[in-house]
Amino acid sequence: MSDASKALSEKLFYTKKTVYESVDSTTIDEAMAFAGPYAAYLDAGKTERECVAISIKLAEENGFTPYRFGDPLSPGDRRYYNNRGKNLFLFTVGTEDINEGIRISAAHIDSPRIDLKQCPLYEDGGMGFFKTHYYGGIKKYQWTAIPLALHGVVIKADGTSVEIVIGEDDSDPVLYINDILPHLGQEQAKKALGEAIRGEQLNLLIGAQPYADADAATPVKLNIMNILNEKYGIVEEDFLTAELTAVPAFKARDIGLDRSMIGAYGHDDRVCAYPALKAIIDAADSRHTLLCILADKEETGSDGNTGMQCSVMCDLISEIALARGGNVNLVRANSKCLSADVAAAYDPNFAEVYEKRNSAILGCGVVLTKFTGSRGKGGTSDANAEYIGWLRGCMARAGVIWQTSEMGKVDAGGGGTVAKYIANQNIDVVDLGVPVISMHAPYECIAKVDLYEAYRAFAAFNRD
Ligand code: MN
Ligand code: MN
Repeated sequence: MSDASKALSEKLFYTKKTVYESVDSTTIDEAMAFAGPYAAYLDAGKTERECVAISIKLAEENGFTPYRFGDPLSPGDRRYYNNRGKNLFLFTVGTEDINEGIRISAAHIDSPRIDLKQCPLYEDGGMGFFKTHYYGGIKKYQWTAIPLALHGVVIKADGTSVEIVIGEDDSDPVLYINDILPHLGQEQAKKALGEAIRGEQLNLLIGAQPYADADAATPVKLNIMNILNEKYGIVEEDFLTAELTAVPAFKARDIGLDRSMIGAYGHDDRVCAYPALKAIIDAADSRHTLLCILADKEETGSDGNTGMQCSVMCDLISEIALARGGNVNLVRANSKCLSADVAAAYDPNFAEVYEKRNSAILGCGVVLTKFTGSRGKGGTSDANAEYIGWLRGCMARAGVIWQTSEMGKVDAGGGGTVAKYIANQNIDVVDLGVPVISMHAPYECIAKVDLYEAYRAFAAFNRD
């Protein structure tokens, strides 16, 4: 190539670059350091309830106080609204006219998992089990033969609540889902992956020792119930009013000999929730009014009163607008939102489902996804070019390294996020998040530099 054509190519062509070649070594060091507290956040928050609790703790340590609808609000206020312990809204009141709109970052804190049924406990073949109904989009075979922890709450007959976490401490027992040994798995091996393990086979193994009294009809079940009764004061009927779930018992750890990645359960979507939360906590004296939403129920369609289709976000925006003397409709029309959710990272092991030119590449920074959906962009809000153009300027001013992506090949499938539910409220919104390898697996993988660019992107969006 001649020098002239080389110069012209550099001037005219777009080339995706890695974070490593785009930022200085100080920023890389910051990215590596940022990963430590994130890993701790993951280990402390494996359910939406636990994420709300740890997020409130972090917020309160940084001056946030509880908000009640109707409270007066003044510039500089740092408040949080806890929706049923499963959905959290954190906001800071800015100095500018509220009619300029609110800067919103919305992530979700629920992840795919194995929920217990309401009548879960039974005994068969000398073993005690919990029946389950999985939550969100999982590949069922991935959840067998791995250590699982039990998390959740039980509401007792007297209305009191018992919190349960078993399997996270190294000295705890774990739960387990059985699979067929390969020696007898010849018929299973011929089945499609999606049918090799069925929903009704995802039963949690919880015991194998009978109660000392051999007369009991179900001695293993009795022994388990007795252990639970002694430890938590619960009886079998209390499962009817419980929310219990099995999640991977793994802790977050560095992946790679270079320690450049993090393996963990629940990166989707805590890898966006954490930097969005950090960005609002770290935003001091903001001119804009900022709102960070940590939503529940995204993995099952954002329905319900803790999901993003609930009116609570608009109720809160109305409250803030009215308390600051604004016009509710104007505030919504002028608000800007980042739907903070993960992207599928290009995986060379499964290259056939990706279109590489339009895939998120691990290590190339935070991902901006103009549209999601499937089958001809069905079910997406598809962000406006003008809004993305504004965001591009915002990222450039802050030196944030970003890339665009769509999930995979056009006909390979698809998915959605909370973006459309926010867009439907007359708010400009686009998806922005971290690329993930093995999304929805019990142990997902992300790159530390992408996580840090996400944090820098949320901070820039809040500040600009
Ligand atoms: Mn997600
Ligand atoms: Mn998901």
